[in-house]
Amino acid sequence: MQSPSAKPQAPTTGSPRTAYRLLALVVAMALATSVALWWTLRQAQDLAQPHQQNDLWYIASVHNELARVSLLARQLRAREASAQDLVDRLDVLYSTLDTSGRGPRVSTQLREALPDTAQGLDGLRSQVERWSSQASDSANANEPGSTAARRTQATAALTQALRVAEDITRQSDALLERLRQAVATVHLFSTQQTDQARRQLHQRFIVLSVVLSALLVGTTLLIARLVQDARAAAAASRQLAQTNRELEDRVARRTRKLEESRALLGFILDTSPSDVLLAEVESGRVHFINHRLTERLGLKAAPQTLFLPDLLHDPDTRQRFMQTLDQYGQVDAMEAQIGTHAPRWSSLSARLIDVEGRLAHLLWGFDISTHKALEAQLRELATRDALSGLLNRRAFMERSTALFDHCRRHGQPCTVLMIDIDHFKRINDQHGHQMGDTAIRACADAIGQALREADLLGRLGGEEFAALLPHASADSARQVAERIRGAIAQLGLVSPSGHPVTFTISIGMAASERHHTGIEPLLADADAALYRAKATGRNRVLAHEAALPAH
Ligand code: GH3
Ligand code: MG
Ligand code: MG
Repeated sequence: MQSPSAKPQAPTTGSPRTAYRLLALVVAMALATSVALWWTLRQAQDLAQPHQQNDLWYIASVHNELARVSLLARQLRAREASAQDLVDRLDVLYSTLDTSGRGPRVSTQLREALPDTAQGLDGLRSQVERWSSQASDSANANEPGSTAARRTQATAALTQALRVAEDITRQSDALLERLRQAVATVHLFSTQQTDQARRQLHQRFIVLSVVLSALLVGTTLLIARLVQDARAAAAASRQLAQTNRELEDRVARRTRKLEESRALLGFILDTSPSDVLLAEVESGRVHFINHRLTERLGLKAAPQTLFLPDLLHDPDTRQRFMQTLDQYGQVDAMEAQIGTHAPRWSSLSARLIDVEGRLAHLLWGFDISTHKALEAQLRELATRDALSGLLNRRAFMERSTALFDHCRRHGQPCTVLMIDIDHFKRINDQHGHQMGDTAIRACADAIGQALREADLLGRLGGEEFAALLPHASADSARQVAERIRGAIAQLGLVSPSGHPVTFTISIGMAASERHHTGIEPLLADADAALYRAKATGRNRVLAHEAALPAH
């Protein structure tokens, strides 16, 4: 399996700079080809210009027309043609020489290359113009008039025409020879020109071929390069696609594993014997709550909207819990009541954790309701005297202190009774220790029945009891004490051996006064009164008497 850090290998391709260079070369070659082509076309165009041929045809035409004129001149002299025929022929020759009226149609090139030939043609033109003019004069001589006059004129005209014909005949051979030479010269000139142009064209074609070959090579290289790049790109694309597929597979596998892990974790947390809850820190909204906690809260299903603080029943505990969590990021085994309707004690711990990039509070707890109940029971037991069920000395001292302070704070009176069974030792001695215990229990019950709900009663030790009567004045307390004393005397216990067991009690009484700053001095005063009751004959109630001021 490929490691996650392995990167896809890039296909080995040349640098793109090479392709750009090739492209630049091809463009340059294309431009060079265009220039060479244009250059060659121009040359070809020059070759296509028919001026040399025109010159040749022109001179040949003039030659032919002059030959015809020469022939006609000979025919005229042989009386085989008329003067008018000669005039017409001369006109044709003249128009051949100069159709535009601007002189012989000789090309500029010829005029520049062969000035003698051009001048010869110019001279021929002037000559033909002269002949034509003279011949025209003889032809125009046939005007209306007397017969004799017309005959004379005709004779003169004919003579004139014959002279022109003779002149033509005399000069025509030389002129025709010159024209033939001109045709040959022009032909030679034209051939040389054409050869030179062909050579140049050939050279340009060679240049063009070279440039085109270079263009072809460049284009081939570029195409090869592009094909190579395209193949490399396709290979890279395939490799990338393959890598992507592998990555996707890996992500899918991991996602699946993660989901499985999540499901497993959810299952574990759901079936966990502890209460588990996950809440978002920012909003406090609960994201996950396990099955056990849902049940414990008395809910049928995990609630849609629940906030972590709402979980805690007691406002003070809630504040303390959230404060500790915010301050330290954790809470360890804090005892709190959770739920609203029937809150249950739980030992809660919490941690600030990071869940997929978001801060969350993970809370778990254990139900300690049973433990709490036992603890309360133990605490209660610890405060009670096992024999009588009354408050023991320590609990009585704690509670009576609080009650005394309360009365003192509110300016309320309170009275303490110190109660002791008279000659209890004799009961033990005469009826056994068990009977003694029974007597203690009976005495405790009787005292308890004589007191109000708000009064506090405890067994301080042995057969000695103490009662704190809040809001009770000395008189009303005395009445209660007397009632207790009377009730004890009326108990009518019977020993296991069937003998009646009777006993009395002595009570020392002390009402709170200004100088009593705590329960201890008040108890001490009551104890002193009890001591006096014992000393003065027992079975009586004596109040504490303040010491007489010293004289
Ligand atoms: P007085 O009238 O002066 O109070 O005499 P008394 O005999 O009642 O007092 P004393 O202190 O001499 O005797 C108390 C006796 O109570 C001693 C002790 O053995 C007995 N006693 C103390 N606690 C218990 C108890 O829980 N059960 C029984 N059966 N006897 C106890
Ligand atoms: Mg006693
Ligand atoms: Mg005693």
